[in-house]
Amino acid sequence: MIIDLRSDTVTKPSKGMLEAMLNAQVGDDVYKEDPTVNALEERIAKMFGKPKALFFPTGSMANQAAIKLHTNPGEQVICDKYAHVYNYEGGGASFNSGVSCRLIDGDRGMFTANQVVESINPPDFYHSPLTSLVAVENTTNKGGGACWDFEEIKKIRTICDDHDLGYHLDGARLWNALVAKGETAAQYGDLFDTISVCLSKGLGCPIGSVLVGNEDIMQGAIRIRKIFGGGMRQVGYLAAAGLYALDHHVERLAIDHSKAQEIGAVLSNLSMIKVVEPIETNIIIFEVQPDVNETAFVQQLADANIHIIGMGGGKLRIVTHLDYTDAMHDKLLGILQSM
Ligand SMILES: *Cc1c(COP(=O)(O)O)cnc(C)c1O
Repeated sequence: MIIDLRSDTVTKPSKGMLEAMLNAQVGDDVYKEDPTVNALEERIAKMFGKPKALFFPTGSMANQAAIKLHTNPGEQVICDKYAHVYNYEGGGASFNSGVSCRLIDGDRGMFTANQVVESINPPDFYHSPLTSLVAVENTTNKGGGACWDFEEIKKIRTICDDHDLGYHLDGARLWNALVAKGETAAQYGDLFDTISVCLSKGLGCPIGSVLVGNEDIMQGAIRIRKIFGGGMRQVGYLAAAGLYALDHHVERLAIDHSKAQEIGAVLSNLSMIKVVEPIETNIIIFEVQPDVNETAFVQQLADANIHIIGMGGGKLRIVTHLDYTDAMHDKLLGILQSM
């Protein structure tokens, strides 16, 4: 039994999902003739109360397309120093859109409306880059699956309105936040201009992300996706996995969250662990004591067929997911308790 807790992206399609994929009606999606992709896009657009949605192969491409749609070269995006769009998309913001990122020193990947205000360059001061977009991430990845306070997200909307800034949500794990906080997609659709969501993380699809947004801004999205090389053909087979996941894999995220809590409780009791960061969803970030070799710790688990990941700076990460079974959970807890 191999227990892979490096990420929630390691899941493989279940039998039911594969069946849904096999039975999909497909067409050429570059001509917008794939009925299953169209159905997925309509369904997600409706969930968020947005007029338009577009299927993307990856979350990075969906985020990068959003940045491109919101900005012109030379401009600046405000995001947290932990942001995925800044840290883990290969420098795409500068490569694809010619923009820089103004990093906020936030708390576990989250920041306040006041910090946004402080980060906006005065638009008439032509020496500094023109601020054009605020990007928020919920849940935060590097921040350990933390969920934003919805009131702060609302306040930032007002700031964006006052300063004529675009407002993008990287919602790769928004499903986890919705389940953990009892929020709805429509609440988020109400506030953001664009939102990207991943189907290939907690929802267990092999691939797929969707960008939703307002009519005006999404008008250019299909062209940008084409330019980025993301126009796909009979991709309904993959959209079918997404539709299946929306039916079967959203509410169950609560199971991943409670398992994460249980792992965190065991870790907190181990003398070799210095600190376990607050656990709100399915990500557990923790640090070993200074006298414990973190590589050796990871290797000791790997020798027991348990795989976790180092995040640098002495931090380690465990992520629970759909393919992490009760039996695996019992085994992991037992091994940790014996360490
Ligand atoms: C995983 C992730 C993405 C997208 O990643 P892809 O691997 O490109 O699908 C975007 N944002 C966050 C916060 C993520 O965790």
